[in-house]
Amino acid sequence: MRWTHQFQGAGFYAAIARGYYREAGLEVTLLQGSAERNPVSAVLDGRAQFGIGNAALLQDFAAGRPVTVVAPLMQHSPFVLLARRGADLRSPRDLAGRGLALEAHAAECLVFLHRAGLKPQAMTLLPYPDSPLRLGQGGLDAMTAYSTDAPFDLIQARHPYQLWNPRESGIDFYGDTLFVHADFARARPDLVRAMRDATLRGWAWALDNPEAAIDLILADYAPGASRRKLEFEAGETRRLMLPEIVALGYSNPARWRGIAEAMAGAGLVPEELSLDGLVFEAEAPRPGPWIYAAIAGLSLLLLAALLLARRFWGLSRALQGEVTRGAVLQGQLAELARTDPLTGLANRRSFLDGAEAVRKQGQAYSLVAFDLDHFKAINDQHGHAAGDAMLRHFAALCRQNLRAGDLAGRLGGEEFSLLLQLEEATAVEVARRIAGLLAASPVAVGGRLVQGTVSAGVFFCADPAMPLQQALAEADARLYAAKRAGRNRVQAGGTLFSPAGRSSVR
Ligand code: GH3
Ligand code: MG
Ligand code: MG
Repeated sequence: MRWTHQFQGAGFYAAIARGYYREAGLEVTLLQGSAERNPVSAVLDGRAQFGIGNAALLQDFAAGRPVTVVAPLMQHSPFVLLARRGADLRSPRDLAGRGLALEAHAAECLVFLHRAGLKPQAMTLLPYPDSPLRLGQGGLDAMTAYSTDAPFDLIQARHPYQLWNPRESGIDFYGDTLFVHADFARARPDLVRAMRDATLRGWAWALDNPEAAIDLILADYAPGASRRKLEFEAGETRRLMLPEIVALGYSNPARWRGIAEAMAGAGLVPEELSLDGLVFEAEAPRPGPWIYAAIAGLSLLLLAALLLARRFWGLSRALQGEVTRGAVLQGQLAELARTDPLTGLANRRSFLDGAEAVRKQGQAYSLVAFDLDHFKAINDQHGHAAGDAMLRHFAALCRQNLRAGDLAGRLGGEEFSLLLQLEEATAVEVARRIAGLLAASPVAVGGRLVQGTVSAGVFFCADPAMPLQQALAEADARLYAAKRAGRNRVQAGGTLFSPAGRSSVR
């Protein structure tokens, strides 16, 4: 295993506990991993027959080490860079000369840094810390981490941080991947197939029954672990495994080729690396026919949505690029179905799903309802292109002011919503900051400056049992109080606030 017992191993625990391995005639013992223990050497030394690697298996393969990929378990990599917050640290470029802790096999992070113009030598490499809470201490400016667990500790401790995801720069690697010694794959293909199928069966069960899988982990593998942290990890893991979109364990030769090219660009593997023999049974793709139906259905929906958007608002150039990019990759398709094409924020459904998930975790949260002021007039006076530019600008202001764990969505038209894992006073500050920034930053369209403002309602929900719809209605009621009070206001509870940077309204 790549790490100690946590949700990352849920499919394996499930396959053991539910007898899937036994039914397949397999007896499986799990060896825990750590930052020092490397599954690749364990498999190559014969201490283990199967291992969990990741996209960095390509580097082993390129170096002539006999590894064979059996099944990618995560369609997307969990590796991200976490950085301390600071005005001197705004993007990966600012890491030149800074302290960085790198995990082995975080190839996607190396490619990311390389594209930002940074070589590992340009930074001070520090030992990997025992906790992400060390961020900001002892010169530790940034570190690689798994998005599935480290942010939880930081959010929990209210430790300020920022998260840079290589995927947002188009570096989309596989994550945890089951592999085997190439000799073993050749000698015992039947056994490898049996192991693969039973493991995927275990994962399917664990993803369908996350609470039961967590019970299993707490009972048998990690008795001291936090249930809430495991739930967080389960949610994030599911997002990286994409079971609704891609058959579990599906290995796409074109994606391996893309990963190899990205790695070659950063000098991690040779150019033009032949991938023959990398993937076990590479020529036997295994997605069910429903996959194609699902993709076709989603594509049609997407197309219909885009045509509608184009008809009403005129399609931006960026969007046309999206459409004409041709074959849409499976993972991106799922993302598009969740994303508002104009602003890139979560769309209504995806925001509501995310908010519902937070509510179900049983913690207090704040909702902010935003509605741009006199937006019809902006469209009428300056044209829809100006309106669209304003919507994008506002979405960017929202994004810039969120922390990991917070959500922002475009609920429709010029209405936006935030879910903040913050108490009321701090949520009001965030809303005022965003409103203040909007009121202070006109948007340039066709040589003209167009100034917008926004009204907001903030509702702090201390009772997670309250249905989400009711909490949203509470935030909306405050929003309309802010509108009635003259717009360009933030209303929370019984108090009306001006946007940040203005003198008080009352
Ligand atoms: P108020 O301050 O009361 O919110 O006034 P308003 O004009 O913003 O209110 P209303 O809800 O009546 O108008 C919303 C307008 O937003 C209607 C529509 O023309 C415009 N709109 C909705 N979606 C889009 C979009 O995607 N692009 C553009 N350019 N305009 C949009
Ligand atoms: Mg409106
Ligand atoms: Mg409006």
